[in-house]
Amino acid sequence: MYIRILGSAAGGGFPQWNCNCPNCRGVRKGTLNALPRTQSSIAVSADGVAWVLFNTSPDILTQLAANPDLQPARQLRDTAIKAIVFMDSQIDHTTGLLMLREGCPHEVYCTDMVYEDLTTGFPLFNMLKHWNGGINRFDIPLDGESFAIGGIEHLRFTAIPVSGKAPPYSPHRQDPHVGDNIGILVTDERSGKTLFYAPGLGQMTSLTLECMAAADCLLVDGTFWQEDEMAVAGLGDRKAADMGHLPQSGPQGMLNLLGSMSKPRKILIHINNTNPILDENSPQRMQVQAEGVEVAYDGMRIELN
Ligand SMILES: [Zn+2]
Ligand SMILES: [Zn+2]
Repeated sequence: MYIRILGSAAGGGFPQWNCNCPNCRGVRKGTLNALPRTQSSIAVSADGVAWVLFNTSPDILTQLAANPDLQPARQLRDTAIKAIVFMDSQIDHTTGLLMLREGCPHEVYCTDMVYEDLTTGFPLFNMLKHWNGGINRFDIPLDGESFAIGGIEHLRFTAIPVSGKAPPYSPHRQDPHVGDNIGILVTDERSGKTLFYAPGLGQMTSLTLECMAAADCLLVDGTFWQEDEMAVAGLGDRKAADMGHLPQSGPQGMLNLLGSMSKPRKILIHINNTNPILDENSPQRMQVQAEGVEVAYDGMRIELN
């Protein structure tokens, strides 16, 4: 299985256009030892030819340009993207579908909850009907059954519901449902190797922990270093938990959880621009590294064979 990190930042990207926090200012000026990052999305393939896109970020066109093998140029109009899987209905994970309108209809896999959001509060799918019908939608089962994706041989996909919040425009924003947010386990049937991808992970459930501990590679929520990071940066009072993210630090934090898992390769993704781990010289980044945890960057390639 081939995995490509198209974008590794949380919503807003890094630097965020209107942000002058020490990280954004530093990377913009070139005074911080950090890589700029686009908003999070990954592509996965069994053969390096046909790819599944997980989320379509507002930066999708930049990401495609940076990854030429997703444009194999076999015919006048072409793409290597066979299907798109949505992990939730957040703006930073879905808006890029509008940028891909010339390729409609797309094969889109999402839960019923995400489908509802994207046909009501944020009616992407309705709008795109005007481009060759827009999307062919496939349901993602939430009962632990794996599913296949047409045109992608050898890979099976299993959704793991995770806690989180539906976006502000969701009709059920204040009324959480299973399927608002998912993680996905991708299994390569040839090698048995597995990837667990979850850019948003709120409270951990025993199912999520079990799934993570058994995977070969984790690409998991790296949004915030600490619970009150936004407040500390002077950017409002929203807590990590309010936004459906588990911070890295603290006794119940992601690093401690990952420390108890010996099998997987551990990689943080969906990193918010306020997170000190973006600064490669920061003590927080050193700590992450010392614990054997990697920080995803745009263009990162992973092979699981
Ligand atoms: Zn996001
Ligand atoms: Zn910032």
